[in-house]
Amino acid sequence: MKASDQLLLQNKAWADERRLLDPKSFERQSETQKPRFLWVGCADSRVPAEVVTGSDPGEIFVHRNIANVVVATDLNFMSVLSYAVQVLKVEHVIVCGHEGCGGVRAAMSNTDYGMLNKWLSNIKEVYFSHRQELELIGDKEAREDKLISLNARAQIRQLMKMSIIQEAWHQRRAPMLHAWVYHLSNGNLEELETIGPDTVVPEPFRFHFAPK
Ligand SMILES: [Zn+2]
Repeated sequence: MKASDQLLLQNKAWADERRLLDPKSFERQSETQKPRFLWVGCADSRVPAEVVTGSDPGEIFVHRNIANVVVATDLNFMSVLSYAVQVLKVEHVIVCGHEGCGGVRAAMSNTDYGMLNKWLSNIKEVYFSHRQELELIGDKEAREDKLISLNARAQIRQLMKMSIIQEAWHQRRAPMLHAWVYHLSNGNLEELETIGPDTVVPEPFRFHFAPK
């Protein structure tokens, strides 16, 4: 049997079981989605948002890329963010990094990854901003773990600078922005930092909006 056929078989078993447990579940879901969370995670196969949070289909709107980076010129990411915040009106945006992130490791190296260099430069910039703190850490793995945390925290700051987020804060005092890290070694998620509508956005990243 082909590996892909195995997935189709597993899907059939999953759908049959769900229908058995809750006969109306697919009917309900096909009408609409009302997720409360946008997840910005790494494309790494070991960190699937729904699985590690014990969530069901319909609960999390998901965007994943290499090393969970927020890039204002990425049309794909910006479309997901805009739809999640302005249309679905999610209450939380979670940027989740993870232990052993190959993207972060690659960004820390001096290897020329060709096409990937441009993407990794987003993480190299985070390294550069914190190089003094990072270079004090002698152990390579500990330094990598630190950059993984710093990267997740830097990405919620990127979100904070965006008018889509600031406008939503102005209009409905949401979403909260969370930086999390997932520990591959024990399956636990850790909250690193949360920022929300009371955050003072530094100049010149602050946008003004008409009074409500
Ligand atoms: Zn990763």
